[in-house]
Amino acid sequence: MSSRYDVCIIGAGLVGLSVGRALAEAYPGISQVILEKEDDVATHQSGHNSGVVHSGLYYRPGSLKARLCVEGRLELARFCEEQGVPFRQAGKLVIATKPSEIEALEELHRRGAKNGLTGLRRLDSTEIKELEPAAAGVAALHVPEAGVVDFPMMARALAAGLRATGAEVLTGRRVEAISFGSGGVRIRTADQEIRASVAVNCAGLHTDRVAAMAGVVSDIQIVPFRGEYYTLTDEAAGLVKSLIYPVPDPRFPFLGVHFTRRIDDTVEVGPNAVLALGREHYRGSRPDWSDVREVLGWRGFRKLASRQLWAGSSEFIRSRSKTMYSRSARSLLPAVRRHHLITGGAGVRAQAVASDGRLVDEFVIEEAGPTVHVLNAPSPGATSSLAIGRHIAGLVSRHLTG
Ligand SMILES: Cc1cc2nc3c(=O)[nH]c(=O)nc-3n(C[C@H](O)[C@H](O)[C@H](O)COP(=O)(O)OP(=O)(O)OC[C@H]3O[C@@H](n4cnc5c(N)ncnc54)[C@H](O)[C@@H]3O)c2cc1C
Repeated sequence: MSSRYDVCIIGAGLVGLSVGRALAEAYPGISQVILEKEDDVATHQSGHNSGVVHSGLYYRPGSLKARLCVEGRLELARFCEEQGVPFRQAGKLVIATKPSEIEALEELHRRGAKNGLTGLRRLDSTEIKELEPAAAGVAALHVPEAGVVDFPMMARALAAGLRATGAEVLTGRRVEAISFGSGGVRIRTADQEIRASVAVNCAGLHTDRVAAMAGVVSDIQIVPFRGEYYTLTDEAAGLVKSLIYPVPDPRFPFLGVHFTRRIDDTVEVGPNAVLALGREHYRGSRPDWSDVREVLGWRGFRKLASRQLWAGSSEFIRSRSKTMYSRSARSLLPAVRRHHLITGGAGVRAQAVASDGRLVDEFVIEEAGPTVHVLNAPSPGATSSLAIGRHIAGLVSRHLTG
């Protein structure tokens, strides 16, 4: 069976769905198909994350991440209001727990201002207590534009909106092969060949593999990092009003163990970041040893591991030990005890690692003939998704008109 479309999008996470939305807005009447290997949309990163709408504080001014996060956040707020998706802009505190972190906090303040954030405010230890009475620190930055949202519901609203424009969102369709030539792109699933003028790869944890199907030779490979959460007991949940974060360690792209009052009012602690035993290794699922062998065989990972052995081992120990986990949580919230932590969910991050061992921080989007590949869309990819979608629609448009 063969079908023909203007655009074929691979992956129905927030990024793939947002690309579809942006194309439907820019080109009413465009024919689009989205192929998703799972039985529903947003079953991987887009449905297993912290649910935080990032403000745009952390990212290098002028970077794609900084621009698309700020634009995406504003667009997300409008989308959620129109579509009735739960969203709350409750603000967050980034807390320095020791004087040695104050310089990094000040740098964040400068970055945030350069990235166009409004209302940023430096707090002393007394002012911290006014916003988060149970938190402790020597200084903090209040970031009023951060918030929380129901990302899975946002994905479902995007899919419904796309279907209403005539786009097909097909689940249970794993893309197995891609080829292209003068007639456009051929995309093969187990039982179908699809032809399209352009294909867009938004395959998240498998994006490098899908890119390789299209002949893309890249210097980066996805290394899966598992983020494990705890939930605070009802007794302890009242200790957290909104979002409480540490000052991030500049050596890592992850933000450190933090507290999130989610959109459903439960309070989550985490996530940490440990090497996942498989690209889809959630809590309770089996390790995928062929994925593990692939990671260990990647020279980029070996270089990263030799450089970050100490940090990696302490994250691993924290992952095995609730006592260690509660100890690091206590540096921000001294009243938290081990018995307040209930084992929660886990998510797996698609983190691109370069062959020199660098954790790639920036969003990476590459074109190869009539194909576009999202090779790295880590956090704040969910916050930024609508803006990433518009950015990619701009790249796709060249192939539609040309
Ligand atoms: C633990 C964790 C916490 C995070 N916290 C936040 C946060 O608070 N705020 C924020 O903004 N961001 C956060 N992020 C990042 C954010 O979730 C991601 O940036 C975003 O969801 C990426 O969306 P995506 O569509 O690229 O990927 P995904 O949501 O992973 O979607 C990719 C889709 O492609 C499909 N697919 C893969 N291979 C194929 C194939 N061969 N054929 C067909 N389909 C295929 C997959 O099944 C999947 O549905 C977090 C991520 C994690 C893991």
